[in-house]
Amino acid sequence: MLNPTFNQPAISLQQLSVIIDASEDAIVTKAPDGTFLSWNNAAEKILGYTAEEMIGTSDNIIIPEIFQDVEDRIIERVGAGETITGNEIVRRHKNGSLVTLKRTLIPITDDAGQVKSVMMIARDITLQKDLERKQLIQSAIIDSSDDAIISKSTKGIITSWNQGATRIFGYTEDEVVGKSITILIPEERLDEENHIIGKILKGERVDHFETIRLTKDGQELNVSLTISPLKNEQGEIIGASKIARDITRQIKSAAQLQRYAENLETLNSIGKSIAEDMDVEAILQKVTDATTQLSGAAFGAFFYNVVNETGEAYTLYTLSGAPRSAFENFGMPRNTDVFRPTFTGQGIIRVDDITKDPRYGHNAPHHGMPKGHLPVVSYLAIPVISKTGEVIGGLFYGHPKPGMFTKEHEDLISALSSLAATALDNAQLYREVQTLNERKDEFIGLASHELKTPVTSINGYLQIIESRLEADSVTRSFAQKARNQINRLSGLITELLDVSKIQSGQLPLNYTKFDLVELAKEVTELMQHSNGNHQIICDCEHPILEVNADRERVEQVIINLISNAIKYSAPKTQVIISMHHTDTWATLSVQDFGIGIDQEQQKHIFSRFYRAQNVAQHISGLGIGLYICKEIVGRHKGRLWVKSTPGEGSTFIFELPLEGVQD
Ligand code: ADP
Repeated sequence: MLNPTFNQPAISLQQLSVIIDASEDAIVTKAPDGTFLSWNNAAEKILGYTAEEMIGTSDNIIIPEIFQDVEDRIIERVGAGETITGNEIVRRHKNGSLVTLKRTLIPITDDAGQVKSVMMIARDITLQKDLERKQLIQSAIIDSSDDAIISKSTKGIITSWNQGATRIFGYTEDEVVGKSITILIPEERLDEENHIIGKILKGERVDHFETIRLTKDGQELNVSLTISPLKNEQGEIIGASKIARDITRQIKSAAQLQRYAENLETLNSIGKSIAEDMDVEAILQKVTDATTQLSGAAFGAFFYNVVNETGEAYTLYTLSGAPRSAFENFGMPRNTDVFRPTFTGQGIIRVDDITKDPRYGHNAPHHGMPKGHLPVVSYLAIPVISKTGEVIGGLFYGHPKPGMFTKEHEDLISALSSLAATALDNAQLYREVQTLNERKDEFIGLASHELKTPVTSINGYLQIIESRLEADSVTRSFAQKARNQINRLSGLITELLDVSKIQSGQLPLNYTKFDLVELAKEVTELMQHSNGNHQIICDCEHPILEVNADRERVEQVIINLISNAIKYSAPKTQVIISMHHTDTWATLSVQDFGIGIDQEQQKHIFSRFYRAQNVAQHISGLGIGLYICKEIVGRHKGRLWVKSTPGEGSTFIFELPLEGVQD
């Protein structure tokens, strides 16, 4: 440059060379063939090569290969006389690392205007570029984050706001930057902010703090906040960065999961409890209570489907959440468009607002709910249909607010209503069986009573006939046989009468003190007398065994057990009766070596009318002897049981309290 005043160069070449060497920017010149002509100190600092190494050397040692073409084109432009500024390039340092430079290229011409060389002034912008890149990445991350990332000052003023924050809270960046963070905090939670700022000022972090924040349109969100202090270069706390994650869905699904689990449990326990119940009213009450609670209904009711000719008579059976009078005052549901689909089993009706339903309010006299009726807006009605397809009734739920019942409630109650229908079917069957049973018992009682009288008088007449016949007459032996049969018949009738007495709880016991050994011996003798083919052995280690019990009934038990032992032991002939005692109990057992009873049948032989399959066909009996024995022993607070092995024999054992225990 010339000084216009003095027509002198403004600085000398020497000064220029000092400036060039002192410059922080690399200043180099390059011949058109790409070899370096000059290389200053800064160039050495930036690229690691000394002037000696570079002058006369080709530029390709510092140009990464992929940039060589670009470089050639640029040099071509400068060769044509163009000055290029702000050209960003990447070069390779001597140590192999890459360096980003921003350079200006100036053509150097000779007097004839011919470009002789290219001067390049380059500044190292590697650090700046790295920083920019990092910032770009960071802001890309922040912007693409699903979480809200917000920064605020120590006074709680919002200083930055990412797109995630806009998505979650609804405010744009412009709307909130500069405003207080409290716009996001519900009033009752404002204290939280003081607590958070307090921690931040102490340099502490708040991790995964679950709370509620507000969106722009006032909706409440469940959020999880992580807040960390923001520091300046001096390490002073200048604010806080806050990451807010919307966990509303998570919380909702966790709550839903919890609800599902609870519902399942309720279903399970209700299902079990109603299946075990045979009382219709109890079943219906349980179902109504549980479903009213599960659906969150204000009240629930079960109406029986008892319809008269006009289709108007539904009977209220169970109610939950309201007094009976709340319904009874207004009569039962009527055969209207709203109720009919339920009682005819057409399906479930769930309406968010029944008062706006087209089926509602068309019937006189009330045209809707009668005055004073429990307010029903949300309405849910589910038919209860039996296995045979009969509509047993309907479950109805109401709530004074709209939209309270969901598909989930509907499904849950449907599941319970089918369980209830099955339970009701079972209860009905049970009731029928019970009634039949009662009738049968009545019949047995009546029939045996009626039979007893003629049998007794036949017996009397036979005795008279027998006494009038000659001692050796054949007819007399027939009369005797007839009397034996009559005695057997009378025994059977007595047993049947006993069953009837047991059933009606009228089997009185007449306690006396007697010697069980003596009784057993007496019975053995008697039985031995009429069963000559058998050998009945009474084996007792004690001469006397005094018990306090009903002698006649105990005798009946022993006779019964010995009779069975005889009846079920052919062709074996031995029966052993043994007795022993402890301080409090007397035990008597009757052992035979006959057909025995398998484990499965042993469980049933003490039940009324039960006979083991292997005997039912060919050995006569009614299957009530052991039932009566068990009842008699049980009434004495004693125990009767059996030990048996099929094919080897059976031992029936009973024990009685020595002192006798009376009810
Ligand atoms: P019943 O003898 O009239 O059938 P019980 O009530 O006395 O009625 O006996 C019930 C069933 O128990 C009998 O049908 C038989 O199958 C079985 N049982 C009873 N005693 C014996 C026994 N000593 N050995 C094998 N089975 C027996």
